[in-house]
Amino acid sequence: MDVNNTSNLPVAVIGGGVTGLAAAFTLAKRGCPVQLLEASSRVGGVIQSERSAEGWQTESGPHTLLLNDPEVRKLIDDLGLTERIVPASPQARHRFILRNGKPVAAPASPPGLIKSPLFSFGTKLKVFAELFRRPRMRSADISLGALVAEHFGQEFVDYALQPFVSGVYAGDAYRLSAQHAFPRVWQDDQACGSLVRGMMRTAKERRRRGEPRSQLISFAQGLQVIPDTLALGLPSDTIQLRTQIESVICEAPHWRVSGIRDGQPYSESFSRVILALPARALEKVATGLPSDRPFASLSELELSPITVVSLGYRRQDIGHPLDGFGLLVPALENRQILGVIFVSSLFPDRAPAGHVALTVMIGGSRQRSLCTLPPEKIQTLVESELRQLLGASGAPVFCRQRTWSAAIPQYNLGFEKVKNTIESTEKRFPGLFVAGTVHDGISVPLALLSGLRTAGKCLAGRPSG
Ligand SMILES: Cc1cc2nc3c(=O)[nH]c(=O)nc-3n(C[C@H](O)[C@H](O)[C@H](O)COP(=O)(O)OP(=O)(O)OC[C@H]3O[C@@H](n4cnc5c(N)ncnc54)[C@H](O)[C@@H]3O)c2cc1C
Repeated sequence: MDVNNTSNLPVAVIGGGVTGLAAAFTLAKRGCPVQLLEASSRVGGVIQSERSAEGWQTESGPHTLLLNDPEVRKLIDDLGLTERIVPASPQARHRFILRNGKPVAAPASPPGLIKSPLFSFGTKLKVFAELFRRPRMRSADISLGALVAEHFGQEFVDYALQPFVSGVYAGDAYRLSAQHAFPRVWQDDQACGSLVRGMMRTAKERRRRGEPRSQLISFAQGLQVIPDTLALGLPSDTIQLRTQIESVICEAPHWRVSGIRDGQPYSESFSRVILALPARALEKVATGLPSDRPFASLSELELSPITVVSLGYRRQDIGHPLDGFGLLVPALENRQILGVIFVSSLFPDRAPAGHVALTVMIGGSRQRSLCTLPPEKIQTLVESELRQLLGASGAPVFCRQRTWSAAIPQYNLGFEKVKNTIESTEKRFPGLFVAGTVHDGISVPLALLSGLRTAGKCLAGRPSG
């Protein structure tokens, strides 16, 4: 290989989750040689769908993808996956929130809000009055909890926002930054005044642009179909599995990427590097001596742990009709689970006939220590909660657990320090790019977008920023 002519060298994409795969796919499609270096023996990262011999279709990571971005929609189409989309059942619009130990349907419309027993009359009035709120300029970031409390009051934060935030971030609304964790809310607060009017305006603009409605989706074989199809779309020999990268060293005009492959030292030269790594891996990457770790300060970024417990019951052993997306549990209810997804109500063929599939999430930044319990204790705890909250009787006939000790990055107040670290490192090392959930948003669609856009910047030779 001629290392003096960097144009011959491929780009290294490090990390084979959906972020790295989307980046590699984009580069390859634009004719740019690329190598994808992945530490484990599979692609997909936290996306892990499995089918058991008895017919249980489970997810150990994400369960659904919200399809609302035109670029992500186009990617799904380019991958030939549009026809294979399985939309969530219409009843997924119904969500339950635990109040006084009982699942209560969350209101899904203004008339629903008026009738809902979830909120007091005072909170309902606040929600309607919020429509007339005027824009306000803010000189500094504010927590999402504090911002939403200003708009809708404390009860709304406790019984709508906090459970929602648990479901998305497994985090705490009073620590998350409004500006970084929910930029749309932050913008609407200042540009529109009313968050409700802001949401209506966004929906109207989407309709005017002719964009289809947002769709909550998966696939018959689960979300793993996305990384698998991205991988199949890459030229053969692009993906290097069992390759754990430790350093990316600029030896202008090329990059030396080193680590361990199959237990042996590995080192290769590349023209540019895209790091598509989770925070705990990114912080360890050296750019010179092992002590030269420009992302080391990311160790301060909080990552919430989650244990995902997949359970199967006989249908007659669950008292609740399971007629919705699932149940979210507010912190004030003092329970030991974050929520339950009614998996077999969302998508067909997730459980054998006569059975139902549930996924229980526990831990998060609120109850970190639960994720360190032995699996049998977690199982006992989860079964006990399901008995009390959903009227489960009898033992589950299927159980599977997966703990992610550093699952979701928390875009808490002060998050700009993370962004600054990444931006300043990219400026210091032209040709080095950082993609993924560490700074571009925490969901699957945002991870895909981050991969697509970072590949574009890499091709254009621009730092991310
Ligand atoms: C439990 C859970 C539930 C979730 N639920 C949802 C949901 O319902 N909907 C949704 O939209 N999002 C959800 N998310 C978020 C979503 O899954 C992530 O945003 C997305 O999958 C992240 O993809 P990624 O490629 O950035 O990272 P990852 O999937 O973490 O991939 C990173 C890859 O880098 C590899 N790697 C690590 N270190 C090295 C190294 N040194 N060298 C080489 N390779 C390395 C890893 O092995 C891994 O394959 C959930 C996340 C979790 C954990």
